[in-house]
Amino acid sequence: MNILIVVINRYCGPVPVIPIGACLVAEATRREGHAVRVLDLMFVKDPVSSLESELVKFNPDIVGLSVRNIDNNDMQNPVAFFRDLKPLAKTIRSKTRSALVLGGAAVAVMPEELLRYTGADWAILGDGEVVFPQLAASLSQGEFPNQIPGVAWLDDGIFRKNTGYVTRFSDGCLVPGFHRWIDTHAYLSRLSTVPIQTKLGCHFKCVYCTYRKTEGYDYRFCNPAVVVDTIERLAGKGFRDIEFVDNVFNPPMIMHWPSVMALPEPDLMFVSRAWN
Ligand code: SF4
Repeated sequence: MNILIVVINRYCGPVPVIPIGACLVAEATRREGHAVRVLDLMFVKDPVSSLESELVKFNPDIVGLSVRNIDNNDMQNPVAFFRDLKPLAKTIRSKTRSALVLGGAAVAVMPEELLRYTGADWAILGDGEVVFPQLAASLSQGEFPNQIPGVAWLDDGIFRKNTGYVTRFSDGCLVPGFHRWIDTHAYLSRLSTVPIQTKLGCHFKCVYCTYRKTEGYDYRFCNPAVVVDTIERLAGKGFRDIEFVDNVFNPPMIMHWPSVMALPEPDLMFVSRAWN
């Protein structure tokens, strides 16, 4: 199948964020044999016309809209990012017969509302690089993919979701080949860091936090040796600013220090910038 993944985030403050999730999803879906393209709207002048042009060129069977944030969390200067979805969804519906799928961290927070707002067919609640390829496989077989854990949909206007368990880090795939999917030079020239994720979940229960919806309470860890290999590989490709984007860095301490201690010196200088 032809699958187009559209990264809708255009917010550049304080620096543009490299869309690791969308790139991971693209790479995992490509590994399953699909033709996959990523349209990153971060730096384009006109998102709707860029999307129209891509739809004509690629003629996708499935379009995934990757939504990073619902809003900017700023009560004094609020910006509602979810509103960007409406014209994009309308364009996809008017130009194609593609299945329309929502994914990204924001979707796991408000799946029902975003499904209703956009009229999308499906929403991904679990780890996208696991769930989305399964969804694509199911759709390619002409199936109704309600048996896939991590998928949500509207059934005659009633919100449904499959809450089955989704595993991740099973194949050690921590970072995608960013160059394949996005304009890395555009990001790096604006001081973006290269994100790496070493664990999911958080056992704290801060009342304002949405991580429990996106990653759950239980920790899921990547092997520290794989983390080190990944960092060395990124450094070997010339990436110098690599940022741990785990929801919290330190807890639990025992998981990170093996990675840190294993980094070779002086080739790799480790500078920790952690909030928790
Ligand atoms: S991710 Fe941070 S804010 Fe959220 S529950 Fe954990 S410690 Fe609290």
